[in-house]
Amino acid sequence: MTETILYIEDNDQNYYLVHYILAAKGYECIRAADGMEGVRIATNTPVDLILLDIQLPGMDGYETARRLREIQAISKLPIVAVTSYAMPGDREKALSAGCTGYIEKPINPTTFISQIEAYLPPAENKEDE
Ligand code: MN
Repeated sequence: MTETILYIEDNDQNYYLVHYILAAKGYECIRAADGMEGVRIATNTPVDLILLDIQLPGMDGYETARRLREIQAISKLPIVAVTSYAMPGDREKALSAGCTGYIEKPINPTTFISQIEAYLPPAENKEDE
């Protein structure tokens, strides 16, 4: 079963890097370029995990996380914030907005997959081991 990851990211280069890393590991990665599009896709398309940039045009990642959590079907879905703001309190802010976890940019390509898989249900990430 192919797992699908929705990445809500406005920056092309950030998206392409993550898409490349995920595709190489057999994940399907789909993109939303802003928070509204992310909420729309998450409402209509089954995904296994959401990666969420915090610095987004218009609605920021915190507000996007709150709106995603209002979608009943994905109330328990892992939402992982991905952000370069390494300010004290940002992690707590992301978690209180409904995010499950937090990955700092720039992402580390060698550890990124294991960081993601830590948030996926254990039964679903055994195939590559
Ligand atoms: Mn951004």
